[in-house]
Amino acid sequence: ATPTAIMVGTGRGAELGVLIKDGTALEHAGAIKTVLLDKTGTITKGRPSLTDFVVLDGSEEGKFASWVAGAEVPSEHPVAKAIVDGIRAKGFEPGKVERFKANGGSGVEAIVGGNAVLVGTRRLMTDWALEIKPEVEQHMQKLEREGKTAMLFAVDGVVSGIVAVADEVGEHSAKAIRELRKLGLLPVMVTGDNRATAEAVAKQVGIDTAEAQVLPSEKAAIVVKHQASGPVAMVGDGVNDAPALAQADLGIAIGGGTDVAMETAGVTLLGNDLRGVATAIRLARATLSTIR
Ligand code: ADP
Ligand code: MG
Repeated sequence: ATPTAIMVGTGRGAELGVLIKDGTALEHAGAIKTVLLDKTGTITKGRPSLTDFVVLDGSEEGKFASWVAGAEVPSEHPVAKAIVDGIRAKGFEPGKVERFKANGGSGVEAIVGGNAVLVGTRRLMTDWALEIKPEVEQHMQKLEREGKTAMLFAVDGVVSGIVAVADEVGEHSAKAIRELRKLGLLPVMVTGDNRATAEAVAKQVGIDTAEAQVLPSEKAAIVVKHQASGPVAMVGDGVNDAPALAQADLGIAIGGGTDVAMETAGVTLLGNDLRGVATAIRLARATLSTIR
């Protein structure tokens, strides 16, 4: 495209809240075949809230609630805030954390009031060689089929309950996916969350393909995998997404995303409107076709 066409295209994008970095980003946008979308904060609102707090031995709910909340206080993950706020709303105060370690992609490990507390995925429990009873597994699956993110908690080496959060899908997400399909693009959801939750959320917005249980370090490799079928756009909001945004043919940052995400991305969507992805691609195609 000529410099003038690029100026017109990027100028029009800016009016629509779609900031296109340069001519290269615009050209890449015009060639995209597959659009990978992060789940949390991109397809969903990214502000989950507590839905379930289940203690297997129901007698000591308050103690477990305070240990679990205490373990989540230092965590920066959106589920942590949901858990802490939700447990406070039930009238329990977080216990005092003596030690804390975030385990990227699987949960938290902490010492709270002298107890060893784990909160996170099945994987976190099995990494510590803790047993997950069949009835606990069944309860987890039930919550996940409802689209909730269900996590296990263990205290002093015993899996003691389940805590679940849910995150609403964004107001415009389903419409945005329909628009991508109209453009002939394949939408794919990418998430660290488990398969059942991922598929429940994907279904709500009309996505058929979900890459689930993807560790932060694996996101870029998922992009590479899809690049085998053509140019890939990756849409994300978080620090975790930066390597995937960089690997993609076109990185798209959304939601007043982190600075890292915006620096890496070729396109930044202002506000939280996922429909901007289709806008960017439509604009790019139009700009390129008038020139060639
Ligand atoms: P995503 O950004 O898609 O939610 P993450 O890789 O950040 O994926 O997290 C993957 C999973 O790890 C979450 O779905 C959750 O089950 C677990 N997890 C992450 N952080 C925490 C935390 N602070 N407490 C409990 N579980 C967590
Ligand atoms: Mg995320």
